[in-house]
Amino acid sequence: MSIVLVIGAGGVGSVTAHKCAMNSDVFTKIHLASRTIGKPNAIKKDIKKRWGVNIETHPVDADKAKDVAALIRKTKPAVVINVALPYQDLAIMDACLATKVHYVDTANYEPRDEAHFEYSWQWAYQKRFKKAGIMAVLGAGFDPGVTNAYCAYLLKKYFDKVRFVDILDANAGSHDKSFATNFNPEINIREVTQEVKHFRKGKWIKTPPVMNEGSVHFAFDYPVAGKRESYLLFHEEMESLAKNLPGLERMRFWMTFGQNYLTHLRVMESIGISRIDPIDFKGQKIIPMEFLKALLPDPASLATKYTGKTVIGCIVTGTPKSEKRKVKSEKLVTKYIYNVSDHAKCFREVGSQAISYTAGVPPVIAAMMLLQGKWKGKGVFNVEELDPEPFLKTLAKNGLPFKIVNHKPLPAALGLQKRT
Ligand code: NDP
Repeated sequence: MSIVLVIGAGGVGSVTAHKCAMNSDVFTKIHLASRTIGKPNAIKKDIKKRWGVNIETHPVDADKAKDVAALIRKTKPAVVINVALPYQDLAIMDACLATKVHYVDTANYEPRDEAHFEYSWQWAYQKRFKKAGIMAVLGAGFDPGVTNAYCAYLLKKYFDKVRFVDILDANAGSHDKSFATNFNPEINIREVTQEVKHFRKGKWIKTPPVMNEGSVHFAFDYPVAGKRESYLLFHEEMESLAKNLPGLERMRFWMTFGQNYLTHLRVMESIGISRIDPIDFKGQKIIPMEFLKALLPDPASLATKYTGKTVIGCIVTGTPKSEKRKVKSEKLVTKYIYNVSDHAKCFREVGSQAISYTAGVPPVIAAMMLLQGKWKGKGVFNVEELDPEPFLKTLAKNGLPFKIVNHKPLPAALGLQKRT
């Protein structure tokens, strides 16, 4: 008997709940909880219709560790999958500690009043999780998550040492909205408007945000999707990979953005509607970003009309494994590992677009690894610290296959000569 409690019933949570139901031999009982009961109940109905599986739904305020702990005591899960918002990470981890239940999430903690994310808050739980004899798997979505496993897999299979990593994330899809984000608008806009950092020789080099003058970008020729302008962005998996890949010299994260998207970001910033500090409105305090979120399309609602593909993967350069070297040589080898997902195909399968799909399936497989003892350990782990082989193999069987090809290394000065 492996009971799972999924917290969060948005775009990602819906996919997670569906995939648990599609693996009901592993997840023998599924509980889905969210701030309000409407979204979980709609997902419950769809799951029953598609897969014939009955799930249970619950309202919970996951900002309150005590409420989450009470729900855990009531539902008795073996693992909690947190696909609510990054603001709730610490409260849910506290609840898991209080009840000694394993924890999986897809995004690192972020305080509400500061657009800043980093692992330090969650890594600080290491000793307490270890002492409680439970495991936390952090950032087990696609990026972070699968991208971390891709690096670990290439290291395990091909390299003695990884020297350069470029993570490339393309959404080559289109929907019928003039502007929409592909996951929670508040979290997404906070992420993409931040100052950019990339890693070089042990230091973090700062460059301007994607929509500002001086942003760094180049056109990468993606498999299936073709040439797409890709912008340097700071992404959370870089923090853990920089720590867990010894000898790493350079790491960058690139994401595709269209001019229309960037123009909207510039306007939002210039008129102040993406501010996260409270302002006075008719005698009431409101946070413009929260108001903006209420105006923007719900990312889950894009799925019905979304067409095109996502292509997410890693180009990794390193020193080849000693046993694969015919003669002793320091010649570097570069591999490109990636997944291609199709928005319309994801919609047909689980009623969601590909960004929700690629983020919502991996935490289910991470929970499976943990329950089946393929990932063992006590404490707090990032995905690259765990065996990537069973994870990627099971992920491929569950809709997210990968391909590996030889590739040229990407130049060190890429995009730096260009200016927006
Ligand atoms: P949504 O906004 O669509 O969904 C969030 C869900 O959490 C909603 O059901 C929401 O309920 C619920 N929620 C919000 N606050 C609380 C609370 N206090 N207590 C309980 N439930 C709450 O977001 P997404 O589904 O798009 O994203 C979910 C997570 O996935 C985010 O953390 C995001 O960063 C992460 N993500 C990770 C990716 C990866 O590849 N690693 C990629 C994409 C997303 P309500 O709507 O009623 O407020």
